[in-house]
Amino acid sequence: MLFTTSWDDGHPHDFRVADLLEKYGMTGTFYVCRDGQVGAKLTDDQIRALASRHEVGAHTISHPSLRTVPAAVQREEISGSKKWLESVTGAECRMFAYPYGHYNETAVEAVREAGFRGARTTQDLIWSTDQFHLSPTIQVHHFPFRPIPNRRCIQPLQTHYKSLRGMHVPLFALRNWSAMTKAVFRYAVDTRQPWFHLWGHSWSLERFGLWEQFEDMLKHIHAQPDMTYITNRELLTR
Ligand SMILES: [Zn+2]
Repeated sequence: MLFTTSWDDGHPHDFRVADLLEKYGMTGTFYVCRDGQVGAKLTDDQIRALASRHEVGAHTISHPSLRTVPAAVQREEISGSKKWLESVTGAECRMFAYPYGHYNETAVEAVREAGFRGARTTQDLIWSTDQFHLSPTIQVHHFPFRPIPNRRCIQPLQTHYKSLRGMHVPLFALRNWSAMTKAVFRYAVDTRQPWFHLWGHSWSLERFGLWEQFEDMLKHIHAQPDMTYITNRELLTR
């Protein structure tokens, strides 16, 4: 089975993700947005360093929801981010990720027109092979609850409950992220899905204390025979 990972926004903690991936011989695609998203952003030197070790993809200039801006702004944000990254790295930028996973028809068209080879959504737990709607499998995220006790606290479980039960993920595996993700990985292997794709935000691993669970999952995947580690772009050429 193919295994790939992707990391959104571009944050200095991306290097901790990169180090962990390399420890297990794995790779990732880091979708960087020029203006950053949560406070800190990567410098041009850091982007070049990341691009020399993994794939770097585009994630717009200013991280708007592409569903809410006019087509002209979509084009500026999308093709502008490709040109910007190519001028920083000196290499072709082939992949794009929609901020917040939001897109519409004109946004997809703008991604195609800009010359990207593919784009990643944020729709977990499906296996879409459409090159401009590439779906990840699971977000490295707090699960089953948000750590903030408000009315949206149960949202992570609520959002995925039906799909997870459809995959016969047992109830006791819903107790934490690690157990749930291992169960979905089992399902993916058993049902011969084409890939397993973890994605997330390095700043969120830091903020929610998820580094240990994340590394534990990498170890788990590493122990599975016949895994091939590839970038998001390579998913499209398999
Ligand atoms: Zn983002």
